[in-house]
Amino acid sequence: MTSWHERDGRIAVLTGAGISTDSGIPDFRGPRGVWTEDPVAELLSTYDNYMADPALRVRSWEARRNNPAWGAEPNPAHLALVDLERAGRALTIVTQNIDRLHQRAGSNPKRVIEIHGNMFDVVCVDCGYTASMAETLDRVGMGEPDPPCPECGGILKADVIMFGQALDHRTLLKATLAAETADIFLAVGTSLQVEPAASLCGRAVAAGAALIIVNAEPTPYDSLATEVVREPIGTALPRLVEQILAH
Ligand code: ZN
Repeated sequence: MTSWHERDGRIAVLTGAGISTDSGIPDFRGPRGVWTEDPVAELLSTYDNYMADPALRVRSWEARRNNPAWGAEPNPAHLALVDLERAGRALTIVTQNIDRLHQRAGSNPKRVIEIHGNMFDVVCVDCGYTASMAETLDRVGMGEPDPPCPECGGILKADVIMFGQALDHRTLLKATLAAETADIFLAVGTSLQVEPAASLCGRAVAAGAALIIVNAEPTPYDSLATEVVREPIGTALPRLVEQILAH
């Protein structure tokens, strides 16, 4: 039996918070995760609470100003995926992260699907007005603690999917297509506990892909995996990419 590294078809990579912890961005549910250390912070990410509570929105804008992602740089795991793409492999990255580090590392933005949105854009929940996060945070700094939409006065939020919000239908279709056409499906740094992102693993396997899981903690999909890797992502992913490219 040949090893999965020798498969030469399309590669899909699902990435979660674990790929960015080496860049200084804490994850959510890990031992030192944002929500583990401060359960109230999870409220900030829940759509109904955000819409109903102006004080919570003020706190959210403050949290956005202080988000560690502003000063974060891509790490060797992000760069390994760039190497894979530049070596000519057909690669799609489906990311749960909102930090844009794949694109900043050099991955083709057209091949990165941000299923949970991104933190660099702002959207009005009422009229769909969009602005950059940077300019909106400038408004916060200039004395608007909960800046309203300049077009309609509605509530602004980061262009991210909050708890209680559905994923964008077209984005999810693209991610599903990437999973179902993959020959190798890598799930990296994700606890695979959030649907529908996690079920992409099952779809990929059902369509014939080899599933490789790289995560420190066990996941519900480990039993479906061809290989489960527990070593740190910063060394594991460059090694796996090297093995793939050696064939
Ligand atoms: Zn508006």
